[in-house]
Amino acid sequence: MAKKAILMCTCSGACPSMKDINFWELAERIRLELNHDFLVMHPRLCEENGECLMEDLLKDDGTKYYVLACKEEKQRKLLRDGYQRARVAMNKDTYHPISLSFKNTDQVFEEIRKALEEDEAVGEESKEEAQVNG
Ligand code: SF4
Repeated sequence: MAKKAILMCTCSGACPSMKDINFWELAERIRLELNHDFLVMHPRLCEENGECLMEDLLKDDGTKYYVLACKEEKQRKLLRDGYQRARVAMNKDTYHPISLSFKNTDQVFEEIRKALEEDEAVGEESKEEAQVNG
């Protein structure tokens, strides 16, 4: 089964739109309660240092990256170079953006939980279909 990785960008911990998120609590709740392979937290994924991390970290091996950062349309533009440097296509199979903007810890946790569970359900359905057809 493909891996599920969570990348959490904390925007330096100083973005006013993320003031209601406790990043440490969120990271620990995700680690303890959600089914995923690993979580990486970075202060600025869209800067050179973050792109360098993405270049080394992202793999074109079926891993899906759930990216917690700024608004979806904004992060899609800002993180494009990181995906390019890693030579990983940025599409629905490799990239699931989740906005942290104007949300609190609980809201973000619920969103990531829902995203992971929905993908798991789709994975189970495809497995069943393959068994029926195969
Ligand atoms: S990717 Fe978005 S959330 Fe992360 S540092 Fe850049 S602007 Fe901030």
